Amino acid sequence: MREILLVRFGEVFLKGQNRPYFMKKLIDHICHAVSGLGGNVWMSEGRIYVSDFSDLDACIHRVTRVFGVHSVSPAVEMDKDDFNAVCAQAAEMMRPLSGTFKVLARRSDKRYPLDSPAIMREAGGYILEHVPHLTVDVNHPDHTLMIEIRDHAYLSVERIPAVCGMPMGTNGKACLLLSGGIDSPVAGFMIAKRGVELCCVHYHSFPYTSERAREKVLDLARILSEYCGKMRVYVVPFTEIQMQIHAKCPETYTTLIMRRYMMRIAQMLAERDGAQALITGESIGQVASQTMEALGCTDEVVSMPVFRPLIGMDKSEIIERAEQIGTFETSSLPYEDCCTIFTPKHPATHPRKELIRRAEQVLDSDALIAAAIDGTEIVEVG
Ligand code: ATP
Ligand code: MG
Repeated sequence: MREILLVRFGEVFLKGQNRPYFMKKLIDHICHAVSGLGGNVWMSEGRIYVSDFSDLDACIHRVTRVFGVHSVSPAVEMDKDDFNAVCAQAAEMMRPLSGTFKVLARRSDKRYPLDSPAIMREAGGYILEHVPHLTVDVNHPDHTLMIEIRDHAYLSVERIPAVCGMPMGTNGKACLLLSGGIDSPVAGFMIAKRGVELCCVHYHSFPYTSERAREKVLDLARILSEYCGKMRVYVVPFTEIQMQIHAKCPETYTTLIMRRYMMRIAQMLAERDGAQALITGESIGQVASQTMEALGCTDEVVSMPVFRPLIGMDKSEIIERAEQIGTFETSSLPYEDCCTIFTPKHPATHPRKELIRRAEQVLDSDALIAAAIDGTEIVEVG
């Protein structure tokens, strides 16, 4: 008898010709997730199992963060031949619980002497007799004990929801513009959940932004990598570009021009990294640079698709997601971002593209961008 983890995945995406490819990716990611715990991952009859882990809670924590996993159940694997022992184990697992229960049984070994209804009846009766504080409710039970008869008997009660989504790397790669704020990590998570691999770009304006602000962003990237696996973070020096914009461009446009440079550089780094799209944490009307006209002005300098998964979300909804995925606390640390320095008093909310293009002409764009890319530091996380 041993303790294992039963892993359920999204059947919907795993049909047809792509199934072996999806399954391989999913299993690779689960293997990677449990590698530090000595876990052994295996498949049997269309199910994924993890066994031989050193710490069940840590194993659950990691596997429920693998995109493509829908739920997990801690389970006991035991010899199926002694049905009395199976019933005794079932009663042991139900004893700490209170309220109502039912037993569900599934039998893939059709030669097993008891069929599914008989397993449910016998095990249910045994539990009622040996755990008298429980009662049966077949319609709305508080707890469902699952008994599966395969090569062994598998018993489980608890079903822990996981992150869902699609296996990482099955839907290309995108580049996340990652600030230290609440929004961009959530945006990255939402796209990554669809099976999209990430790389990140962060702009810092040392010495106006501190070393601690940079560390905070890398910490956010590390939290994201619990879901996404290994990621490359490009840390781009942005001070010179900001200083030049501040010195030479009309104040109302400084933020938008700065954002256009962020997009241009992100696209160049994304292309180098094999990413096919950009991701930002913008949502309509949240700040002056996120009005519809302003978004149009930032989009026009890049040719890649720009994904803005938070576009229709309220701040309170974004915060809720940030709390769920575990980035909120780190995002709330009060360090400055390069967007918060040099902010104009009256930013343009209805900018005109021609005026911005003209305002930008005073800058030596190619040289500024080349220098920023030259000075970029690459940090691997995960
Ligand atoms: P966030 O909470 O993500 O910082 P925000 O509400 O503060 O968002 P802005 O500061 O206007 O909004 O930034 C909008 C988006 O631009 C961010 O979600 C992020 O994708 C990108 N961005 C902003 N600052 C940076 C930065 N320093 N480095 C990389 N990307 C950035
Ligand atoms: Mg920000």
